[in-house]
Amino acid sequence: MTFDHARDRVMAIVGAGHAGGRAAQTLREAGWKGRIAMIGAERHLPYERPPISKGLLTGEREAQQCHLRPHDAWRADDIEHIVGAVRSIDAHERTLQLADGRSFAYEALLLATGGHLRRLTIPGAQLDGVFGLRTLDDAAALAPRLGAGARVVVIGGGFIGLEVAASARARGCEVSVVEGAARLLGRCVPAEIGAHVHALHERQGVRVVLNASARAIAQRDDGRLDVTLDSGDLLDADTVVVGIGIEPADEIARGTGLQTGLRTGLETARGIVVDETLQTSAPGIYAAGDVALFPSRFGTHHIRQETWHNAETQAGVAARNMLGAGEPYRDVPWFWSDQYDRQLQVSGEPALGVRTIVRDLSGESQIHFALDGAGQLVAASGFGTLQGFAKEMRLARMLVERAVPVDAQSLANPDVKLKSLL
Ligand SMILES: Cc1cc2nc3c(=O)[nH]c(=O)nc-3n(C[C@H](O)[C@H](O)[C@H](O)COP(=O)(O)OP(=O)(O)OC[C@H]3O[C@@H](n4cnc5c(N)ncnc54)[C@H](O)[C@@H]3O)c2cc1C
Repeated sequence: MTFDHARDRVMAIVGAGHAGGRAAQTLREAGWKGRIAMIGAERHLPYERPPISKGLLTGEREAQQCHLRPHDAWRADDIEHIVGAVRSIDAHERTLQLADGRSFAYEALLLATGGHLRRLTIPGAQLDGVFGLRTLDDAAALAPRLGAGARVVVIGGGFIGLEVAASARARGCEVSVVEGAARLLGRCVPAEIGAHVHALHERQGVRVVLNASARAIAQRDDGRLDVTLDSGDLLDADTVVVGIGIEPADEIARGTGLQTGLRTGLETARGIVVDETLQTSAPGIYAAGDVALFPSRFGTHHIRQETWHNAETQAGVAARNMLGAGEPYRDVPWFWSDQYDRQLQVSGEPALGVRTIVRDLSGESQIHFALDGAGQLVAASGFGTLQGFAKEMRLARMLVERAVPVDAQSLANPDVKLKSLL
């Protein structure tokens, strides 16, 4: 591609997280020779977040091992890392302003602002000892509190909460998980897999309290915390970790008048609405990662994904499209979660399934295939020990990605090799 660099406008990236960092790298690799300004509210260079609830808490990883790229690589690529919060964008003039008064004229712009932790609004939610978990700094503050014997109450039985529970157990903490719904991982995995995960945590000594929410947190004279549940029960804690999800960080987009949020039935899906090239409703402004509400590969609806794969792959497509490639984003969603010696993986959109076919693998591993009303494979959700499972899951993922027409009996029969169905 050839570019006109004379105007000295920057390629601007708002959010120096996973998607922002990967997009900056891709811009350079795709041939952009002008300035690239990667503006981020955190003081860190881009890093990967999955270890925050895993290795960084167990002590198996260090912060330096989470960097998206070695620090030298940003310098070598002449990518400017600007620490500061972007406050507003003028989509007409193609300028953006930082809270500290600096401003940039941009050629094209990527919004990769991720999400803000959803906060508890109950009394005591602001007390010392109550933690959220999104950033390296959050992990650095929480990790030292997870000593052997420490009592940890995790509020929220989703992926992050359960990974924190597993990490805290690995450190010898006494752990309780409080979940408002009737089961764990209610939002995104089949009930049977949720039940396996539940049983695993109980076997590992975690106390799981379902259908319960915290009503208040109070500090006792000895410094400990009392978490009062709506049932009136009290949980004793040294540390409370709140893992109740995120809200997409779409406030600048809203302030700029970009389309955010879409009504689906009775609900409104939040996020910055993009087309299949990941362009927002304003020409030249793109969005990628946790914040983007993008067209599903499986229908006419839009989805938002809070996953490593989504940030990684959307960043590349958005960056090339900032340079005029016009490439559609067609990836099938995929994520994993590590808990103890088990892994959970989901590929596709389980919510679209109307029929489930279970493939029982050896070693307590299972894959649940979801078919839509037309019999098309729309998701594969698996849970198991890494041995054997990872390979089977890779093939299951390929079946979903390639939309292979499948025969239910073969899918269910572990003696039929998934490879033979591809
Ligand atoms: C604890 C944890 C564990 C995870 N584990 C897994 C896992 O096991 N598997 C998996 O698939 N996914 C996992 N994920 C999800 C994955 O890490 C995220 O989906 C991914 O980081 C999203 O990347 P992003 O670039 O969209 O957002 P982020 O990485 O959150 O980056 C957004 C950045 O934008 C900045 N920003 C926001 N607003 C502004 C502004 N106005 N001006 C400047 N900067 C701004 C923020 O400070 C932030 O640094 C995990 C996430 C977390 C938090």
